[in-house]
Amino acid sequence: MQSPFLNFKKELVSAGEILKLDQKIIKRLSTPEKVITVNFNFKGKKIKGFRVQYNSALGPYKGGLRYHPFVNLGEVKALAGWMMLKCSLAGIPFGGAKGGIAIDPKKLSSNNLEIITRAFTRKIAKFLGPEIDIPAPDVGTNPQIMAWIMDEYSKIKGFNVPAVVTSKPVELGGIKIRDEATGLGGKFVLDKLIEKLDIKKNLTIAIQGFGNVGSHLADLTYHSRYKIIAISDSTGGILNPRGIDPHYALEWKKKTGSVVGLKGSKTITNDELLTTKCDILAPAALENVITKKNAKKIKAKIILELANGPTAIEADKILEKNKIIVVPDILANSGGVIASYFEWRENRSGLKIKEEELKEELKEILDNSFDNVWDEAERLKIKLRDAAYIVALKRIVEAMKLRGQV
Ligand code: NAD
Repeated sequence: MQSPFLNFKKELVSAGEILKLDQKIIKRLSTPEKVITVNFNFKGKKIKGFRVQYNSALGPYKGGLRYHPFVNLGEVKALAGWMMLKCSLAGIPFGGAKGGIAIDPKKLSSNNLEIITRAFTRKIAKFLGPEIDIPAPDVGTNPQIMAWIMDEYSKIKGFNVPAVVTSKPVELGGIKIRDEATGLGGKFVLDKLIEKLDIKKNLTIAIQGFGNVGSHLADLTYHSRYKIIAISDSTGGILNPRGIDPHYALEWKKKTGSVVGLKGSKTITNDELLTTKCDILAPAALENVITKKNAKKIKAKIILELANGPTAIEADKILEKNKIIVVPDILANSGGVIASYFEWRENRSGLKIKEEELKEELKEILDNSFDNVWDEAERLKIKLRDAAYIVALKRIVEAMKLRGQV
C-alpha cells in the first residue's frame, strides 16, 4: 500500500509545479518542522507516541491526536501536512500538526486510557500550549481524552489552560457545535457543489465509517434531499436501497457494537460499500481506502472526502479519467478545525458566541473556501484537489516569504 506521506508529497509536488513554486520551497514544505517521538512504559509494555509539528508560518500548530493500533510516523507526518493545508485553505490562523499513539483504545479500560493519555501529555507538554500547539480529537480519541490532556497540562502549568486543546467537553470550555462540525461542514460543502452543478434531483449517498464524522453527516443529510443507502464501520457494512434511518442505525450500533444486522438491510463488506451504485460516496473512516484496485469499480459521481487521505494517488488519476468529482479532504472535512478555531478563540478571549451565529460563520467560511477552490479549478482547468492545494499553498508560501523564511 502506498504510504500516506508519499501520497501527500506527490500531491504537494503536483500542486507546486502548477504554481511554478521554487524547488527549494517545495523541498522545504516536504519536511515537517519538528518531529517528536516519545516512548513510555505502561504496565510493563512499551508505548510509542508521536507529535509532528509540520509548519507554523500561519500560526500555532494545530491538529488531532489519533489512537489506533496502526499509528506510525509516516501516517502522522502525512496527516500533519494535510492539517497545514487545511488550516490555510480555511483562512484560520493556524499551522499544521498531528499526533498519535499506537494503541487500541477499544481494548483499554477508561482508567487505563486516562493513565496513558496523562503519561503522553507529560512527555510532550513542553511542546504544547495555546500559542504553540493545540491538539484535538481524531480517530479513537474524544472530548474526555481532551479533558485529561487539558487537566494534566494545567497541573504542570499551575493554572487552568483550556485553550491548550479543542473539542473539550462543554463544561470545560468546549463549544456545542464542535462535535457535529466536521459532518456539518461536509454537508455545507456538498450542498454548495450540488448547487454549482445545478443538480435538482434527490441523491443517494453511501457513507464509509459511522463514527463521529460519518454518523453526523448521516444525521444531517437524512431529512434533506439525500437518501442514505449504505453505511459501514470497522465490522462491515449494510445496504438498503429504500434508505437507512441513521438514528436507528446509531441505536443498533450502540446496542450491538456494529451497524451490521440492522433490520431491513443487507450485509455488505466495506469494499462493496465503496463500489455501491450511488450518487455520492463519502469515505469517513481511514486513509487509502480508495485504491487503484477498486477505483475503476466506483459508480458514485461525487466523492466527498470526509476522512483524511482516503484516496490513493493512483486511484485519484483513475477517478479523474472517469469524470468522478472528488471534493478533497482539506476542503470537505475542514469544518472540524474551523469549529476548533472558534473554541480556541472563545477560550482566549472569554467571549461567548451563540451557537447559531457560529454555524453561520462556519457556513460563510466554507462557502468562501469552496468558491476559492472552484474558481481556481475553473481558471486553471484542474481538478478540485490541485486547486485546493494551490489556494492553500499560496497563503503559506506568502507568509513564509513575508517572514523571511524562504
Ligand atoms: P471515529 O473514530 O469517531 O470513527 C471512525 C469510524 O470508522 C468508526 O465507525 C470505525 O468503526 C470506522 N472504521 C475504522 N476502520 C474502518 C475500516 N477499516 N473500514 C470501515 N470503517 C472503519 O473517527 P472520526 O473522528 O469520525 O474520523 C473519521 C475520519 O475523519 C478520519 O480520517 C479523521 O482523520 C477524519 N476527520 C475527523 C475529524 C473530526 O472532527 N473528528 C475532522 C477532520 C477529519
